[in-house]
Amino acid sequence: MDRRQLAEHLKFAAELGVAGTSRDPAWRRRAEALPDAAAPTNQTSAGATAGPAPVGPATGGATTGGAVTVPAVTVSAVNVGAALRGRPPENPLSVYATQADVLAAVRADIGDCTRCKLCNLGRTQIVFGVGNPNADLMFVGEAPGGDEDIQGIPFVGRAGQLLTKIIEAIGLTRDDVYIANVIKCRPPGNRNPEPDEVAQCEPFLFRQIDIVKPKVIVALGKFGAQTLLRTLDPISRLRGRIFEYRGAKLVPTFHPAYLLRNPASKRDVWEDMKLVRNLLKSEI
Ligand code: URA
Repeated sequence: MDRRQLAEHLKFAAELGVAGTSRDPAWRRRAEALPDAAAPTNQTSAGATAGPAPVGPATGGATTGGAVTVPAVTVSAVNVGAALRGRPPENPLSVYATQADVLAAVRADIGDCTRCKLCNLGRTQIVFGVGNPNADLMFVGEAPGGDEDIQGIPFVGRAGQLLTKIIEAIGLTRDDVYIANVIKCRPPGNRNPEPDEVAQCEPFLFRQIDIVKPKVIVALGKFGAQTLLRTLDPISRLRGRIFEYRGAKLVPTFHPAYLLRNPASKRDVWEDMKLVRNLLKSEI
């Protein structure tokens, strides 16, 4: 189903008085209360617009990020029918779009992307994202490398294997978390993504974040952290601090590829991951 069809579907459902979606945590658990276990869980996305600002132990540094791009499909999923009538629908017929569905819609929207020059610079395929669409923890890297370009999955090369160990070090698996990159196509020779490429691709990352709604985002490396936080501060100054970012706590840390070259910095990353583990345990 493409975006237009989904929008029509949701409009149709709204006219029938569907229950729609909500940010309320109780809403996420509503399926448990249903007599029929066939009802899947849903997603929700609303327009948090806060830019990054350091909190807790962090001070200074970051400036406000860009406006949130909310996927049209999730906006359509709000309870339009009830809202139009100003009251909850009687005998509501519930239609659920899961986070996985909405992520799939974003992936479909990217299509066989030609929005930037990377499409003509040797990319094999788009590397969208992987993992739990409802994850509390999300990792954001820079751009796919050679292995990722071939497999279509982020962080599967040597750096990715180290990332897997980092995830497992705090008692999680790759299936528990969501992993994506700022840029979805491999830059030639693994060069840094260029500003026009970031400008075209970053909105899709924003949509992924707004759909998954992680409690905590770990920005991997200088490029990811500086891009998300709109700062030129070095990663050595950003890492280990907590920033408010699109409704999540964002913790920058060193990129696993950097750790392969500088193993002594693994100690710092472990400190950062303990902070992440505590954030995940806390009532955010
Ligand atoms: N480095 C990244 O930043 N992302 C990947 O997916 C792989 C390596």
